Amino acid sequence: MSDTTRSSALGSTGASELFQLLRDGRPRTRAELAAMTGLARSTVGLRLDALVELGLVGPFADAVSTGGRPPSRVALVPSARVVLGADFGAGHLNLVLTDLVGETLIGRRSLLDIADGPERVLATMVAEADALLAELGRTRRDLIGVGIGLPGPVQFSTGRPVNPPIMPGWDGFDVPGWVRGHLDVPVLVDNDVNIMALGERSFAWPGVDHFLFVKVATGIGSGIISGGRLQRGAQGIAGDIGHVQVPRGAGIACHCGNVGCLEAVASGPAIAAALRREGHDVAGGAEVIDLVRAGDIDAIQAVRQAGRDIGEVLTACVNMINPSTIAIGGSMAQAGEHLIAGVREVVYSRSMPLATEHLSIVQSRSGEKAAVIGASMLAIHHALSPAAIDELAAAV
Ligand SMILES: [Zn+2]
Repeated sequence: MSDTTRSSALGSTGASELFQLLRDGRPRTRAELAAMTGLARSTVGLRLDALVELGLVGPFADAVSTGGRPPSRVALVPSARVVLGADFGAGHLNLVLTDLVGETLIGRRSLLDIADGPERVLATMVAEADALLAELGRTRRDLIGVGIGLPGPVQFSTGRPVNPPIMPGWDGFDVPGWVRGHLDVPVLVDNDVNIMALGERSFAWPGVDHFLFVKVATGIGSGIISGGRLQRGAQGIAGDIGHVQVPRGAGIACHCGNVGCLEAVASGPAIAAALRREGHDVAGGAEVIDLVRAGDIDAIQAVRQAGRDIGEVLTACVNMINPSTIAIGGSMAQAGEHLIAGVREVVYSRSMPLATEHLSIVQSRSGEKAAVIGASMLAIHHALSPAAIDELAAAV
């Protein structure tokens, strides 16, 4: 069937409209779909044919027999295609292949240096992705989308990094263009904190529409989900709380060039520096966590104080965007309740009572998996969107 015949038969959003109803995974009869959409059954049949032809939808085997012939039902086929999720850190790459509902099929963590530049690093990703596909018995043709998280600012609309401090050679690089040259599917790129917010929400808080994810590690940042949608702001900088001034930062220089930033007093390296001034032999955040776990009182107090500093900034965020859940993640969240207790102490005492009445401040539950889960969710949302499904249906 030609594109014009297909599009006139389906209407502009025909197949995708039905598909969006089936994305929840529940099997439905043609009569139910006709009732839900208000379309004639013959039209529903035609549009389902296109989705079945794509393999995205298939007959659902009914276990219960009512005596007569049961009405046949159709449902999403999660294994129809696979999605690649990639989480890059300064020194690692986490890759997963998931099905269409975000279930991880296979994953791998490898070490690399992000400072090797985009071409070498992305070539490693493509080679690893091919290896994972082969291990699953799938091919590049089964891939429907790629989601990538990078450890620096990214202009989401173009997928290009913008002055990323720890990624020499990446500034302005066309990441989606390069990857599409090898894996010819849509490629979505975002900063690591945004994809962690998506991943943590999908993993642990799927029903929470007003959600703030805070990453506390070498840097500090947040991802904002408001009204059920990730909010990137005009330039993709929304949630960059690490460079907001805090009272305790007075006179302390930050690597961004400003003075008194949250990151300069409450990040892993900043806490370690404070402990060194008290005579402790700590190189960075990981050693701070070790000290906290060993019960060192100075380390516990330093982490709790960092929590209070983060709470100062989060108090403003709470009054501004009124989240119902704040999840604290990143490597320093492994300090556990000490960091969270400091955050709670300030936020609950300083925010408007109505804003904190039903507010939970909790430790991230998805841990290290948050970013790579979020990267695959980013790709799934895009690959299964009405526009993307229409494009696939038109190409059948
Ligand atoms: Zn700064």
